[in-house]
Amino acid sequence: MEKKESFHWADQAAERVIKEKGNKKRYTCAAGITPSGTIHIGNFREIITVDLVSRALRDKGKEVRFIYSWDDYDRFRKVPKNMPQQDLLKKYLGYPIVDTPDIFNCHSSYAEHLEKELEESLPPVGISPEFIYQNKMYKKCKYAKEIKHILNNREKVRNILNKYRKEPLSKNWFPLGIYCEKCKTDNTRVISYDGDYKIKYKCICGYENEIDFRKNGIVKLSWRTDWPMRWHYEKVDFEPGGKDHSTVGGSYDTAKLIIKELYNEEAPLYVMYDFIRIKGKGGKISSSSGDVVNLSEVLEVYEPEIVRYIFTGSRPNAEFAISFDLDVLKIYEDFDRLEQKYYKKEADQKERRIYELSSVKLKKTQPNRIGFRHLSTLIQIYEGDLTKLEKNKDVQKRALCVKNWLENYAPEDFKFKLNDKVPKAKIDKKQKEALKELLISLEKKKFNEQTLFQEFYEICNKVGIQNTEFFKGAYLALINKEKGPKLAVFIISIGQKRVIELLKQI
Ligand SMILES: [Zn+2]
Repeated sequence: MEKKESFHWADQAAERVIKEKGNKKRYTCAAGITPSGTIHIGNFREIITVDLVSRALRDKGKEVRFIYSWDDYDRFRKVPKNMPQQDLLKKYLGYPIVDTPDIFNCHSSYAEHLEKELEESLPPVGISPEFIYQNKMYKKCKYAKEIKHILNNREKVRNILNKYRKEPLSKNWFPLGIYCEKCKTDNTRVISYDGDYKIKYKCICGYENEIDFRKNGIVKLSWRTDWPMRWHYEKVDFEPGGKDHSTVGGSYDTAKLIIKELYNEEAPLYVMYDFIRIKGKGGKISSSSGDVVNLSEVLEVYEPEIVRYIFTGSRPNAEFAISFDLDVLKIYEDFDRLEQKYYKKEADQKERRIYELSSVKLKKTQPNRIGFRHLSTLIQIYEGDLTKLEKNKDVQKRALCVKNWLENYAPEDFKFKLNDKVPKAKIDKKQKEALKELLISLEKKKFNEQTLFQEFYEICNKVGIQNTEFFKGAYLALINKEKGPKLAVFIISIGQKRVIELLKQI
């Protein structure tokens, strides 16, 4: 049999998973994050990387369990700058994030607020993982056996971590944090451990107790041990990681050594994903600095398929920008071109795959599209009234994105409003003469784009005016600007009748 070559990175990754993890019926793909600040579009890159590899595995006939872990039992270590009520939040530093109050007053906790914000934005892009809440797992003592195993092997863990540390961890170091039963913070230290399930701790608040961590879920493994423990617990086959985790001696490196040493298991297949820049909206994104863009905000400007397309078309290890400026038009144009090629069966194998993986649900027939640029002209002519457009669902969905973009991101010189009154004083004698000729032509017959374009040149010749001057005059008459959308299409979009009314004012 001829070996089929894969053209897309997600298919290649899926093949590596099968090769390295063995040919199984079912695979577990994982992602996760600490909900300590807004889950931004850079974090979404991890989720869609897992989604794409999961899809590729399913397309090979495999079952996939896609788990997303919320590390909401981590300590709240820093108040992000973009959050309101900074002073209130500061009081909860050292608490589990899940026990920090929701400063927006709509969810049971700060963590839940951030979690739901992301969870609700995923189904529109066709992603629905199984969510695992670490606070529940820990509070229900699900990991007690693993905690014991790790504590009894803490010497080995310490040796692994010390290989990469400037300042070695001391002999009485424990790879965990304990949340004080009295003051809730993890400002605690281990006093003694019995080698089984009993651990004694003391808090800086003065409280001291011995607990059994099979019954009392206040013990939380530190990140460097928590990660490999979960790979083992959930039997993870694939999990990508951000650039920050992927450095030499970073948490992936040490987790890989720990799972081998403590469980004699191999780490999941790993793909490093790079950062994402935001263009046309300001700086690099990080949830602890103020300016963050989340998936919902991206979805206000980009249709779900196009959000997927942006990620599907770039390898995870390539840094790229999500644009909110005029590049939005180009991205829509590129997508529409790909879509057309796909349905006309003109796309090559790689393009076909990119299109398939970009779709939320692949349609049998080509969706009805109006280009983003043209829609932006129509919507401005209709002054934002989308009911004046085709009722078609695909058109309306895109129109909403165009409208949002016009309102929030479009450059000023891109925007216009049709005149009620023509600014006659700004239009010179020659221009007026030409516009009167245009009026006569428009009253005489109905044009299409080509015939109208032809007519402009005939008018310019007849009047003896430079065509650039003629266009300038026309835009002034229509929108009180010297530039605008391509004139022939523009006049047809406005409607000859309305243009005639304006030109009559001259
Ligand atoms: Zn305390």
